[in-house]
Amino acid sequence: MTLIDVGSGSEESLEILETGLGDLGYSIKEVERIIITHAHLDHYGLGTTVTDFSSAKVYFHPYEKDRLLCRMDKYWKQNQNKICVFFDELDLPEEVLKHFQSLVAQYCDQALPFEARQVRDLSHRQKIPFDRFTLEVIHLPGHSPGHIALCDTKKRFIFSGDLLLIKSLPSPVIDLDWGSPWVQYKGMVAQLDSLKKLEALKVKQVFPGHWEPFDQAGYFISQYFKGAVKFQKEILSLVGREEKTIYELTRETYGGMSDMAMFNYLPEVFGTVSVLVSQGKVLSEVRGGKAFYRAV
Ligand SMILES: [Zn+2]
Ligand SMILES: [Zn+2]
Repeated sequence: MTLIDVGSGSEESLEILETGLGDLGYSIKEVERIIITHAHLDHYGLGTTVTDFSSAKVYFHPYEKDRLLCRMDKYWKQNQNKICVFFDELDLPEEVLKHFQSLVAQYCDQALPFEARQVRDLSHRQKIPFDRFTLEVIHLPGHSPGHIALCDTKKRFIFSGDLLLIKSLPSPVIDLDWGSPWVQYKGMVAQLDSLKKLEALKVKQVFPGHWEPFDQAGYFISQYFKGAVKFQKEILSLVGREEKTIYELTRETYGGMSDMAMFNYLPEVFGTVSVLVSQGKVLSEVRGGKAFYRAV
């Protein structure tokens, strides 16, 4: 028996999982495999509780390993310097960094790390056998560096993690990527590429990490591309010839919001600027620890 993601590490989440498995005639003790689509706490938080109750092995992409084998607060402490450099480059006020640290402290107990002996690596195109079908691992980075989806290429259904959701657009989370080949993680560039790969799979049914399953994956992907191109144009017109930082661009795009609320919109702006840089439409330069952007 296999769980694809396990939910967050709360009592409520455990109850829901127990009830869901019970309704199908199973218990947590019987779980044999846990496949984690990516290292966000709402997807792996309950993992160690499940492995405590069962002898399940845990499978995920190696790019997510650093975060899944380390307590969240410890991980942030270990990488504090890199994180501060990155936040400075974005030109973020110090209170925002502090706010982020307080969130990490608040949630770190809800996602305990796995032990190295419990985990197994997954690689792109690896086949995972089940009794009646086979799922293929598809590495689709963007939302996180080691984000995977699991696809039945014959029956054409996919477990899409957070890459494709029906009620909101996937967010290219601002991330640093130790253990992955990118120096600075270009989440949005990777995400657009991953959505193209997903489109080419021509899946019929999508089982996402949030909300209900849906079909018409192609329609949602094309809508997303339309929105992304529109936003790229909008951001490009804001960048202009004058140098601006990501913080300034986000303020201009989403004016009138508090810094904390605005923090949620930074990934979209940062990601879109990264795409414009990769298209050669925007130039970036780091000076005095801050990254400045201007149109070519
Ligand atoms: Zn996520
Ligand atoms: Zn999620």
